[in-house]
Amino acid sequence: FFLVLEGGDGAGKTTQVEALAEWIRAKGHEVVVTKEPGSTPVGKRLRSILLDVSSAGLSHRAEALLYAADRAEHVDTVVRPALERGAVVISDRYVDSSVAYQGAGRDLSPSEIARINRWATEGLVPHLTVLLDVPPETARERFTEAPDRLESEPAEFHQRVRAGFLTLAAADPARYLVVDAAQEPQTVTTAVRHRLDQVLPL
Ligand code: C5P
Ligand code: MG
Repeated sequence: FFLVLEGGDGAGKTTQVEALAEWIRAKGHEVVVTKEPGSTPVGKRLRSILLDVSSAGLSHRAEALLYAADRAEHVDTVVRPALERGAVVISDRYVDSSVAYQGAGRDLSPSEIARINRWATEGLVPHLTVLLDVPPETARERFTEAPDRLESEPAEFHQRVRAGFLTLAAADPARYLVVDAAQEPQTVTTAVRHRLDQVLPL
């Protein structure tokens, strides 16, 4: 079972991934927790290129391809092998982050971003994608460390990213759960568990 958590920066994805992993493990499943970008040796190098302030001005198409390259390596070496042995994989971000950030956030076509990512992932689609939706202003208050290159983008960029995620979710309600992530973390976890109870194979 492939579960993905999506959302803007500061939506609380990492906190929720941990809480959900613990709960699914307690049900007796093997759980693999992973994230993008940067969950493989080459992916870590791609992540540092992508997030370094010295990459300001990187071509938007080059940026989109580097995220897709990170994802191809991630799918081939981490996600698919785990799914094939029957594990539950929980990924902090996946294809929809690229559609939202490199598509809606930048000036690239969301459908083109989706297309290069279909190729990069050989069409691997999550069983469930949870969108932790929060206004960028609220999310920003949660930053504990100095913002990285993307987090330093103007508020309008983050508004477009948020709208991009919401558009994806509205287009595919069967695969998406949208949760108001401004709520208490425990309330968010409960909402996701409720949906997982209906779809997780037991
Ligand atoms: O989720 P995490 O904080 O690890 O993501 C690292 C940075 O990469 C964030 O600032 C996020 O906004 C950015 N990002 C992006 N496009 C993606 C995935 C992440 O701009 N497809
Ligand atoms: Mg971040």
